[in-house]
Amino acid sequence: MDLLDTLTAKGLRGEVPTREEALAVLATTDDELLDVVAAAGKVRRRWFGRRVKLNYLVNLKSGLCPEDCNYCSQRLGSKAEILKYTWLKPDQAAEAARAGVAGGAKRVCLVASGRGPTDRDIDRVTDTMAAIQEADPEVEICVCLGLLSDNQAERLKAAGADAYNHNLNTSEKTYGDITTTHTYADRVDTVKKAHGAGLSACSGLIAGMGESDEDLVDVVFALRELGSDSVPVNFLIPFEGTPLAKEWNLTPQRCLRILAMVRFVNPDTEVRIAGGREVHLRSMQPLGLHLANSIFLGDYLTSEGQAGQTDLDMIKDAGFEVEGAGEATLPRHRADVAAASSAASACGTAASACGSGGGCGPCGGHAHAPASEDTPASAVEDTDASDGELRSDLVKVRLRGAGTELAPNA
Ligand code: SF4
Repeated sequence: MDLLDTLTAKGLRGEVPTREEALAVLATTDDELLDVVAAAGKVRRRWFGRRVKLNYLVNLKSGLCPEDCNYCSQRLGSKAEILKYTWLKPDQAAEAARAGVAGGAKRVCLVASGRGPTDRDIDRVTDTMAAIQEADPEVEICVCLGLLSDNQAERLKAAGADAYNHNLNTSEKTYGDITTTHTYADRVDTVKKAHGAGLSACSGLIAGMGESDEDLVDVVFALRELGSDSVPVNFLIPFEGTPLAKEWNLTPQRCLRILAMVRFVNPDTEVRIAGGREVHLRSMQPLGLHLANSIFLGDYLTSEGQAGQTDLDMIKDAGFEVEGAGEATLPRHRADVAAASSAASACGTAASACGSGGGCGPCGGHAHAPASEDTPASAVEDTDASDGELRSDLVKVRLRGAGTELAPNA
């Protein structure tokens, strides 16, 4: 297939495909799927070998968010029966983090619901990071607290954070359909603030919100342009009690095509399968490892994942290996680009305007942005047969780990 030969050749050189080529990946048929996975898998192995980076989520503060992100189980007005609690104490968070590190996680992701942190919240997270690093000095720490105000990214960097997560989630064109309490521009601003302060930028998307192929391609190219070092690909978790609980727009095949497209556009960037992996890829999860080089271990913020040991077994059975603490994730040239970009931003352009906005990581939830009229037929046909039904059998609320008396899943 000419398309795949072209994309593979470009990916092996670290070149980005055209927008039309990225759209063509999403329009491939199920008969072509294994060829697509094999082609993108060559690109993945060129830059990341067979390594899989494990990340572990610690939800520092759960639920009761004043923002209205339609996809999120923690949103304003959510009736999802998730755990709700205020800030974990540093020792509680450190205990949860330790479980993830013991399970093989190289990065701990500290997440709190809310529009953005207060300066007091930055103090709390500073204490939490110190408690985690005292026990595990090698562990990478990514922080996800919503929209940042001026100097907060610098404070997090000085306190020992390695990365900051803030997802763009969907295209600029449809962003207003999923959230009204902050804007796409707010989100871009926070990613730039984080990068400008020298933090590695982790920013990704959510698929399955009724978006068109064009929306997906738009957001993935925007992430590439923004210089995201890590691109988490979330597949919407339709929680009961959220506006989009009955929407199921994904099949395992569609998820694999999306992951392949993200890999081709970000050949040498960390691509992570994030929330919704078990819900939507189901028995096809191992094929996702041929495309992404990073996953979350165990549970998500408000939903349960498969057992941590099952994640580890899957990686081994599929012929991959867990990335060690001493191994670099990004290829050397990408790490250099990230460092240069941070230095340039820090020189002046970093703190542009506003300072608030909202949003965090793979909370789960769901928003509906109607597909455009020019949505390819393949995308429309590629809808799960369960569209319109609640699937509580697939979505399991997290009732263990952080914020409970029960042991974490790691
Ligand atoms: S994504 Fe973040 S900001 Fe948006 S509702 Fe959920 S917790 Fe709040």
